[in-house]
Amino acid sequence: MGINREDYPHTGGMRYATGAPMIPAMAVSTKHADLLSRLLKDDKNLNFYMEMHCQTLEDAPSFNVVGELRGSEYKDEIIAVGGHLDSWDLGQGAHDDGAGCVQSIEALRIFKTMGYKPKRTIRAIMFMNEENGLRGGQQYADLAKLKNEKHIAAIESDRGGFTPRGFTISAPQDKPEKRAKIQSWKPLLEPYGLSDFGSTGGGADIGPLGPQGVVLIGYLPDSQRYFNYHHTSEDTFDKVDKRELELGSASMAALIYLIDQHGLK
Ligand SMILES: [Zn+2]
Repeated sequence: MGINREDYPHTGGMRYATGAPMIPAMAVSTKHADLLSRLLKDDKNLNFYMEMHCQTLEDAPSFNVVGELRGSEYKDEIIAVGGHLDSWDLGQGAHDDGAGCVQSIEALRIFKTMGYKPKRTIRAIMFMNEENGLRGGQQYADLAKLKNEKHIAAIESDRGGFTPRGFTISAPQDKPEKRAKIQSWKPLLEPYGLSDFGSTGGGADIGPLGPQGVVLIGYLPDSQRYFNYHHTSEDTFDKVDKRELELGSASMAALIYLIDQHGLK
């Protein structure tokens, strides 16, 4: 549920604790919740009729989508950037998280267009199944471990395609200097409106890479409108501003460039 007064519900996941009674749960819009509350106040014995058609289907195979620019000097050091492919199916998933996918691809495209040859490998990942169990992110981290891949940083965009504000950063507990190094680049990024580097956190999909000592970074856009659209039928392409989306891609590309140039030692 968002804070707007609207006619449409905001969906989300819901689980029953082991042994808990399986009471049906449904999402209700703010306006309809107010209406229901008012009617119940008027008539304590109110009867009303509702229908739900949701169900949990069998699992089906799906895949992460990965593309990369190979590094020239340190090709075994990977800088990952990603968003998630899946979305709640009542909208188009434009902000959550089509924007993050597009921005991740766009960061690589910017480098290609510039003719920039990265020192390190820059990899864009479209994670599958973030919304319903994070299995794409988990599988990606498991495979990285299995293949002995060395990720030095992972950047995620999953807060909508809005005007850039900064980045959230989490470094391994024994390596706080890596976080400080990124924060020291603030004067380089501030002229572009990126000024907030104070929060910790990365993102849901890159989270499973954390235990491998990877620095986790979340792209932080303006947060005022995300929850007007998030998990609703309103999360459609017309709600994404092209300019704001591009500024986000450029912000991510700028940070990737600095990590690629200077490493995170
Ligand atoms: Zn999302």
